[in-house]
Amino acid sequence: MGLLTEGSPLSWEQTKEHADHVREHGIIQFINLFHRLKDKTGDILKFGDEVEYVILKVDHKNKIARLSLRGGEILKKLNAKEQENPENVNSLWRPEYAAYMIEGTPGKPYGGLTAHFNIVEANMKCRREEVERFLEKDEILMCLTAFPRLGCPDFTWPICKPNPKDGASHSLFFPQNAIFQDHPRFVTLTRNIRKRRGEKVAINLPIFKDKNTLSPFTEDFSILGDDGESAKAALPDHVYLDAMGFGMGCCCLQLTFQSCCIEEARRLYDQLTPLCPIMLAITAASPIFRGYLTDIDCRWSVISGSVDCRTKEERGIEPLKKNKFVIPKSRYDSVDSYLSNDSSKFNDIPLIYEEEIYQKLKQNNIDHLLSQHIAHLFIRDTVSLFSEKVNQNDEIDTDHFENIQSTNWQTMRFKPPPPNSNIGWRVEFRPCELQFSDFENAAVVCFIVMLTRVILSYQLDLVIPISKVDENLKNAQKRNAINTEKFWFRKYINLSSTMCSNLLKDPAFKNINFTPDDSEPVYIQMTINEIINGKEGEFPGLIPLLNSYLFSMEIDADTHCTIQQYLNLIKGKASGEIMTTASWMRNFVRNHSSYKFDSLVNDEINYDLLMKAYNIQTGQDSCPELLGQTLGKFSKTTDNIPSSLKKAYCPKQSC
Ligand code: ADP
Ligand code: MG
Ligand code: MG
Ligand code: MG
Ligand code: MG
Repeated sequence: MGLLTEGSPLSWEQTKEHADHVREHGIIQFINLFHRLKDKTGDILKFGDEVEYVILKVDHKNKIARLSLRGGEILKKLNAKEQENPENVNSLWRPEYAAYMIEGTPGKPYGGLTAHFNIVEANMKCRREEVERFLEKDEILMCLTAFPRLGCPDFTWPICKPNPKDGASHSLFFPQNAIFQDHPRFVTLTRNIRKRRGEKVAINLPIFKDKNTLSPFTEDFSILGDDGESAKAALPDHVYLDAMGFGMGCCCLQLTFQSCCIEEARRLYDQLTPLCPIMLAITAASPIFRGYLTDIDCRWSVISGSVDCRTKEERGIEPLKKNKFVIPKSRYDSVDSYLSNDSSKFNDIPLIYEEEIYQKLKQNNIDHLLSQHIAHLFIRDTVSLFSEKVNQNDEIDTDHFENIQSTNWQTMRFKPPPPNSNIGWRVEFRPCELQFSDFENAAVVCFIVMLTRVILSYQLDLVIPISKVDENLKNAQKRNAINTEKFWFRKYINLSSTMCSNLLKDPAFKNINFTPDDSEPVYIQMTINEIINGKEGEFPGLIPLLNSYLFSMEIDADTHCTIQQYLNLIKGKASGEIMTTASWMRNFVRNHSSYKFDSLVNDEINYDLLMKAYNIQTGQDSCPELLGQTLGKFSKTTDNIPSSLKKAYCPKQSC
């Protein structure tokens, strides 16, 4: 999410009237910032993670876990420390969509030294402890991608009723009070997205058909106050959701990387794009929505649908009259084009944009690929505008640009340097779901960071046609995709280049041919196991490549040990030895004594599931099926972290 600009939100009608104004000035602002910053270079690798947490309120006596709506209150306390001493905090805290969420990042970004891999998990622990200090006795903080009973009756604490008639979303399930209230952005976005679309958002997830699931599975929404809109939108054999909160009220793990210059950022953006579906399948953690087991394992399609502000015309249901384009995707979806020349031959999705905007960018000396990327983002209307921000100085302000940029929620984000900072060009990796423990989340973070190092050092090429990435993203969300689906992936990843000569000596790769002959496609379909762990004689595998890369560097024993534990986790997930969080949750439900094999996750199952997850997260319960056999309880105590790092990233020593 972009900066939370202060001020008073305009009504939807006023916002709508300013759509072209925001677009016009947003483009000018981008042109200005581009020319101001295009030659910025010499920035070093930095990275940071963002973790979204939920606060649970647990009624142990009655075995009910609810979402506590105290996020705003807790956030104020967390932010007080930052305001006092911004340079010297363990972590930074920001609001998120729901009142039960908060987002935490490290106090400052990490650097490129391998030793920094030691601090990621320790900092996550510090963060958790900082919040825990402000929790009430029966509250707990969790990393949970989707609360299983989100939208079920009384799922919040305090209990709030939905507002189908007068709430911003008109939801039958998700109460207005579950939206973060201390800043008007979230309620405004919710209202405006519904108004722009012309009806409530509608999400239909295939239900997981168990032995006793109703067939066809249908629900009666009239008892919840449905005026017929939901009955019409809901599909049989699907779990129907009708609010932005079902998606934006999910949590995820994001990573931001600073590159040395704009070209490197563009390259990294392209190279990470094909990894999005793969990492989504590996981190899959959300099989349950609104109290039902579904046939998917990930939040992505839910969140995509939850902010789908396209009108019927734009969705292609009605002929175009008022709108300009039929738009194939929601503004929350996978990216549509690569940004660097080397990858551009794989831009095989027709890009929609306004010719006039594209030409304006081109005429201002912005190259074709970047011009079409920006013009494509700018097919969207603003869905939140604050009165104080309508008129801006386009020479220095970037709010109109950010307005559109930050409401294109895509798998990757290309982030220009913010104004008045010494921050460089960055890319953000956004598909991952959250795992329960800091150990697992740190493993995911470090794995991706290491991949970026190998990709850039060896100039690997992972790019495939972007339409194939889209196909992968759809398949990645299916139940147990990690073990059953095949994914398009690059077979020839440019390992023949001279950069990789020491890699090629690795005996692990001895039977692999690294140069395609002309008749062969450079990309094929592989299982995740083959992509991650390699396929004998065919593909080296990302982890063997990482290991080969790491072997060529001098790494101290502690760091090596940390890295190997992280890689073992990813390796184990890919090979099927370790379950995904989603599979583990589904399994837990289906083995619970009060589960009736009817797809229904009742309060008791929900409570037991979350308590078990909490115990795994705190290390009280070992869970080899999720964390692997070889792991100790937790890998990183602070004892073996160099004191200089400790001082930099956990200054308020508590962990
Ligand atoms: P957004 O929500 O827009 O993605 P946030 O400010 O919440 O942005 O998160 C930004 C992330 O980028 C954090 O993980 C932070 O540590 C990281 N970060 C901050 N500065 C840099 C930088 N110069 N290079 C790379 N990452 C950075
Ligand atoms: Mg982010
Ligand atoms: Mg966030
Ligand atoms: Mg953020
Ligand atoms: Mg979010």
